[in-house]
Amino acid sequence: MTLREEYAELQAKGLKLDLTRGKPSPEQLDLSAGLLELPGAADFRAADGTDTRNYGGLTGLPELIEIFSPLLGIPQGQLLALGNASLQIMHDVIANALLSAVPGAPRRWVDEGEVVFLCPTPGYDRHFGVCERFGIRMVPVALTGHGPDMDEVERLVAADPRIKGMWCVPAYSNPTGEVYSAETVRRLAAMPTAAPDFRIFWDNAYALHDLTDRRAGLASILDACAEAGNPDRAFVFASTSKVTLAGSGVAFFGSSPANVEWLKKLMAKQTIGPDKVNQLRHVRFFGDADGVLAHMAKHRALLAPRFAAVEHVLERELGGRGIARWTRPEGGYFVSLEVPDGCAAEVVRLAKEAGVALTPAGAAFPYGHDPRDHQIRLAPSYPTLTELTEAMEAVALCVRLAAEEHKVV
Ligand code: PLP
Repeated sequence: MTLREEYAELQAKGLKLDLTRGKPSPEQLDLSAGLLELPGAADFRAADGTDTRNYGGLTGLPELIEIFSPLLGIPQGQLLALGNASLQIMHDVIANALLSAVPGAPRRWVDEGEVVFLCPTPGYDRHFGVCERFGIRMVPVALTGHGPDMDEVERLVAADPRIKGMWCVPAYSNPTGEVYSAETVRRLAAMPTAAPDFRIFWDNAYALHDLTDRRAGLASILDACAEAGNPDRAFVFASTSKVTLAGSGVAFFGSSPANVEWLKKLMAKQTIGPDKVNQLRHVRFFGDADGVLAHMAKHRALLAPRFAAVEHVLERELGGRGIARWTRPEGGYFVSLEVPDGCAAEVVRLAKEAGVALTPAGAAFPYGHDPRDHQIRLAPSYPTLTELTEAMEAVALCVRLAAEEHKVV
């Protein structure tokens, strides 16, 4: 049978599968079912007696901060527990940096002629969306398997004072799954920058999301920056979106004392305080940091077989053909699949016409443009194992067909 005939058979199956967004599966959300019963009608007082139902507490419940401080490697006094979405904090921190000079800045970013961010690619599309929304020019930098190409990053930031920021997903990067090495972290913290107000947006969304029983072992960017004499360089973000409930978790912000003071003052104009009842619920649910890690082990039990299934099908269908490469992440939510140059959009189109929705080709690149049209992000968490296997077999066939029709093989 030709690949075209196999593809016609695939289409005839009438699949309806979705590998697009990195959402937790319903079973993963069920792991946090207990949260919905907490804290309970009679339990609304924080450890210090505060009535969590009322206004106030801008920086978040101290007992929740105490639980997450060691997990995120951020001192309690430099960690804020805020709303339900870290993406919103990232968006608002940029809006604030545009409108109110960050510590050490000669002026507000909005008063600069142009603001530029470095974007390690492939990366998280919503980071790039925030830049687009604010008119921040994005400059892609290649990822190497242990973080961005640091020679290139150092060269760019040393030369151009318009480069004010850089996105980083340092552990189990979205979508490559790589973890920044200790050397990468050290160089990011220490590199000379032409802009005195350069900031690293350290989005540690997958800090706790190991797929093996080893922790990612990521070095602390805040410690590295402090040691290098650039204490205000990093803004750190994290959340429990993929720990508890994606729509109802708690987001965190951590940084130097000066940066935290800067943000607190601006936040005070924005809100009287976060949802402390939700924060108390999380405290009751976890108990302590070990409770969080035990909970993550339950996620791992659901996720690891899904990642194994992706690897198994890709290896069986595409291994040794010289037409595809893919990542074998030890954490996070994604597998990054590379197909021959010029084929990614075609694979996504073929998959769509066979009933398998994939993230649009190019989505992981600034402005949605993959110059080589070669990268596809796979999100294995949501479908069942059976659906996932079926979807991956379909994707593999589409890769083979696209490669054949582009005369790669
Ligand atoms: N950062 C990264 C790298 C992500 O992949 C995601 C979700 O996919 C988020 C942030 C969203 O986080 P939150 O739900 O806390 O806004």
